[in-house]
Amino acid sequence: MPTLKILGSASGVPTKKRFTTSFVAGMGEGYYLFDAGEACATHLVRSGIPHNRIKAVFISHMDPDHSGGIFMVVQLMELTGRTAPLKIFVPPEAVGAVRNYFRTVWLFPEVLRFKLEILPYCEGRPVYRDRNLSVRVWGNQHLKRRLQSRYPKLKLESYSFLVRGGGKTLVYSGDIARADELDPLLNGKTDLLVAELAHFKPEEIMAYLAGKKIRKIIFTHLHPDLDNQERRLEKMGDRLLGKSKLAVAHDGLSLGF
Ligand SMILES: [Zn+2]
Repeated sequence: MPTLKILGSASGVPTKKRFTTSFVAGMGEGYYLFDAGEACATHLVRSGIPHNRIKAVFISHMDPDHSGGIFMVVQLMELTGRTAPLKIFVPPEAVGAVRNYFRTVWLFPEVLRFKLEILPYCEGRPVYRDRNLSVRVWGNQHLKRRLQSRYPKLKLESYSFLVRGGGKTLVYSGDIARADELDPLLNGKTDLLVAELAHFKPEEIMAYLAGKKIRKIIFTHLHPDLDNQERRLEKMGDRLLGKSKLAVAHDGLSLGF
């Protein structure tokens, strides 16, 4: 059965009980890291996930609450004897900068004991596929809405994910500008939706999700105002989405789907 492990469930502001955004999907014999907010390397160790079986990392966009822990993940792998190759997917406009930053922190790809590839997303076909799963991405407006008027020449790339594996479908919103940006990802049956809850009112995104063919919804990337609102949100979910369909993430949450 595919599994989900939440490593960090905060949004841009960590709280006393939440680190920034990161989760691991387990499919087949492989593990896949989605976003790498710090302190995901620490959480990987504490969770007991065999991090050297992580086959690929998918960074939704370069905001630090999604990317800031990736260098420690690679250092952890190097210092614990990893030999298996690792692919890290980042927005195309960030590939050069991320490759340079790995060199800046002395993680030269040519001296690591494993093959490290920093790769760009492309839309319209699976960006990654192995015998456990396939991953497709859709660009969203999260960064454009915030920054485009000031930086009109930048691409401001940010992505949402459709993951298929083990007969199951997982959708991860990443950070989005509008709930209906998820339309193309939710037009079939979805076994698990991992959705951010920092850029909407909870009732707004629940109204959008009501009636969609989704078996289980996890809200993560919580706005700090919602830090201690888990029960209220889950009760609202019972009312608006259906009994026990919604769970609010906490750091360390594990489930099978
Ligand atoms: Zn974010």
